[in-house]
Amino acid sequence: MAIHERSLVDPERVLRKDRLVIDGVDVSGDWNLIILPRVVNDYDLEFYDEVIAQPEGKTIVNCYQCSYCTASCPVHNYWDERYNPRHFIYLARLGLIDELQKRADVMWRCVSCHKCTHRCPKGVLVEEVLKAILRVMAKRGIIEEYPSKKFDKFFLDSVYEYGRIEDGELLFGWIEKQGYQVVKDPILKKPIPFIGGVPEWLKELAAKPLKNMNIGFLILNAKHMLFHPRTKNWNKFKQVLRKVMEEEGVYTH
Ligand code: SF4
Ligand code: SF4
Repeated sequence: MAIHERSLVDPERVLRKDRLVIDGVDVSGDWNLIILPRVVNDYDLEFYDEVIAQPEGKTIVNCYQCSYCTASCPVHNYWDERYNPRHFIYLARLGLIDELQKRADVMWRCVSCHKCTHRCPKGVLVEEVLKAILRVMAKRGIIEEYPSKKFDKFFLDSVYEYGRIEDGELLFGWIEKQGYQVVKDPILKKPIPFIGGVPEWLKELAAKPLKNMNIGFLILNAKHMLFHPRTKNWNKFKQVLRKVMEEEGVYTH
């Protein structure tokens, strides 16, 4: 029996009278509340199989719907109660695609805090499972690829190219993708940090850690920003990485 929070029940299915007396007994308010049954005929069990087949989706099978994840989730508790990890898993397992689609506007709001995964008593990797659900929905064209995926790809491109995170390029390259004018160096055509139409808030944000940085580390960072060195033997490892990514079907470069 699935748990159904009140917020998940369509208001038109809830019958409740503020004042009601039957045979002299006062049954006002929630004492007379009735939830009308719902006919469900849009099951798609292949959807669940597709989620399990995703590299991040396998642990969905362990879920026993205790709702610890939802109770822990800051997005559910402080932003919008429609964001409900337990309920998304429930809908995915039953293949209730239409219900998932109704919630598509909130489903990608996860902030990856991993509280849900930490608290889950059944070892479900909740945040990953949610990503798997979203991925299957996107593959089926039910939703557009979630916006954060664009950054994920950009991030992965950077790691794939250098074998490590190239902070300056990542930050200022992303800013360029958002439509800001950046200045690029004439040889490597990479954005030069802090120059061009970079917004003031970003300059301040990026400058704060620089102020407290050890001088050696600062020089190292500046060198990386200018010359973009790769990790040693990265080209060999890159080929292996590429093969694994293709096999997993996670992302092909
Ligand atoms: S905490 Fe774990 S077992 Fe409980 S509902 Fe969430 S995912 Fe399922
Ligand atoms: S990782 Fe996402 S789903 Fe899990 S608790 Fe944090 S915001 Fe909620």
